[in-house]
Amino acid sequence: MKPSAFSYECPNDLQAALALLASDGDTRILAGGQSLVPMMNYRLAQPERLIDINRLSELDYIRDDGGVIAIGALARHAAIKSSDLIKEHFPIVAEAYDWIAHAAVRNRGTLCGNLCHADAASEMPAIMQILEAELVLLKVGTSRVIAAQDFFLGTYETAIAADEILTEVRIPKPAAGTGWGFEEVAMRRGDYAWCTVVATLRISDGKIAAPRIAMAGVNDCAARLRDAEAALTEQTPGASLFDAVADTVADAATPAESSAGSAAYKRDLIRALLPRVLNDAVTRAT
Ligand SMILES: Cc1cc2nc3c(=O)[nH]c(=O)nc-3n(C[C@H](O)[C@H](O)[C@H](O)COP(=O)(O)OP(=O)(O)OC[C@H]3O[C@@H](n4cnc5c(N)ncnc54)[C@H](O)[C@@H]3O)c2cc1C
Repeated sequence: MKPSAFSYECPNDLQAALALLASDGDTRILAGGQSLVPMMNYRLAQPERLIDINRLSELDYIRDDGGVIAIGALARHAAIKSSDLIKEHFPIVAEAYDWIAHAAVRNRGTLCGNLCHADAASEMPAIMQILEAELVLLKVGTSRVIAAQDFFLGTYETAIAADEILTEVRIPKPAAGTGWGFEEVAMRRGDYAWCTVVATLRISDGKIAAPRIAMAGVNDCAARLRDAEAALTEQTPGASLFDAVADTVADAATPAESSAGSAAYKRDLIRALLPRVLNDAVTRAT
């Protein structure tokens, strides 16, 4: 299929892009185009106008801002995956990219576009939530910062307004001794997740501290598992604790039946993956 007719703008600077976005009409930002263009071709999205941000080179960066690593809207998946800053501070991000799409898609696709697309089976929305990332949203004359955990509202649904651009993701550097775990089951590497579970934690005096866990591919959007985090906090790590927490999370999950499997199968994935992720995080923390 071909997309329905649309007009196309390709501004040279951010202010021009914001001004275009502020004017009337059903407008979408075009970043890597790796999700938007297929959706337009299938006519699942039919915007009247595209604003291509690929000339806004001021948004193409991954930089150390002291306590945080800042990633601009034009930083491609491939650049983030191979960044020494990312490997040093967020090895979970580098690891996850082995599971996200293929080299050609990663060469064009952006982290910010991925977050705005908000596929329920996408890995980075879950990871940005456990890393407690903040998202910088700009519109004409003003900006706001929103926590990643408040950004995802449902499948393809986020808190961004029609006249805003996500210009930057800010990820705080983790405390020393933070361990992490990432597990995914998908049809193949590079496909969207049937189930992804991610976690970070520390070990303090033999007990679990600051556990952060999130899951994607199961419910209608990636989300933190707050009850599981509370159940693990200040507990001694071990197989029986992790299995019990995984059972509780699996029982509470509301997976839809899909080509990726039945609800019962997805619950089994949670029971299998969550203890592995927690074990890995404990091992890396200690
Ligand atoms: C074959 C294939 C396999 C894939 N596999 C995976 C996978 O396993 N996991 C996964 O997570 N993803 C996967 N993807 C999607 C890929 O990660 C995309 O790059 C990403 O979802 C969208 O990024 P983009 O820069 O291409 O955004 P675009 O496609 O350009 O835009 C996506 C949406 O975000 C909006 N948008 C983009 N940038 C901004 C911005 N800065 N501010 C406001 N709105 C913005 C657009 O208007 C649009 O609505 C796959 C894609 C393909 C084609």
